[in-house]
Amino acid sequence: MAHTINKPLVGISSCVLGEKVRYDGGHKRSAFVTDSLADFVRFVPACPEMGIGMPVPRPTIHIREIDEQQRLTDSRDANLDHTDKMQAFFSARLPQLSKLDGYVLAAKSPSCGMERIKVYSDKGELLHRKGQGLFVQLLKQQFPDLPMEEDGRLNDEGLRESFITRLFAYHDFRQQVTEQLSTGALVGFHSQYKMLVMAYNPQAYQALGRLVAGAKGQEEVTARQYLTLMMHALSKPTNRRKHTNVLMHFQGYFKKQLDKADKQELSEQIDKYRRGYLPLMAPVTLLRHHLKNHPNSYLQQQRYLQPYPEALGLRG
Ligand code: SF4
Repeated sequence: MAHTINKPLVGISSCVLGEKVRYDGGHKRSAFVTDSLADFVRFVPACPEMGIGMPVPRPTIHIREIDEQQRLTDSRDANLDHTDKMQAFFSARLPQLSKLDGYVLAAKSPSCGMERIKVYSDKGELLHRKGQGLFVQLLKQQFPDLPMEEDGRLNDEGLRESFITRLFAYHDFRQQVTEQLSTGALVGFHSQYKMLVMAYNPQAYQALGRLVAGAKGQEEVTARQYLTLMMHALSKPTNRRKHTNVLMHFQGYFKKQLDKADKQELSEQIDKYRRGYLPLMAPVTLLRHHLKNHPNSYLQQQRYLQPYPEALGLRG
């Protein structure tokens, strides 16, 4: 299946790319990012702390709750407040950020961390660990549907596959729908993504269908709702049971075309996948093979068959 010509644009915390920009002069290079993902996307690196003029090495900073507001301050001196500078840095980068299809962030940072960031009181006492880095807070406010993930979480198979799936779907949506908004564009996009969404969230698959059916005359608001719902649906890792359900859907289309032996082989592969003896790539490859011999335009356009570049090896 032909993939979109342009590679997705992915924002990334510079230290995850291996740049020595951390407070202690180190980096947080992610092997998956630099050795695998780098071939299939264009990275837009940024170190927000260096962006606001901080040197390397630098004093540590953290998030403090002051007058019910979260502020980014020096960890020893609450009066050294970097919040306004970070907001200005973010605003200045908005034109660039609005072109992104996803963001890879460095965990545990009071600027870039997506979750479980320590939040301190104005006096420096630890209040809780449920905060987000300030740069991420701004990113989420401005681009709530943008696929984001942290370096550490990308080591988890399910989270990694979910992020990469969202990243390429988001990129595709911008190209196919946002840039040429029409009911036809929405219907066309939805047709391609039906099986993929079903593999993650069957309820959302139905809700998205209803949204598209009522799109005429309100394409802009429908497109926004569609993207929000779709990104939400793809954000929770899926499982073998849901994939098996989709594989059986594909199988149903071949009832009349395949001979007995081919049907048997396909059933066996799906069953072996279901029981964990084969990777997803095995039945998917067989389905693609049958589609070559028995073309079916609806099935052939399904992104499920290749939601992201195969060489990323996520279904192996
Ligand atoms: S986590 Fe963010 S702010 Fe900290 S060094 Fe990495 S890129 Fe810079």
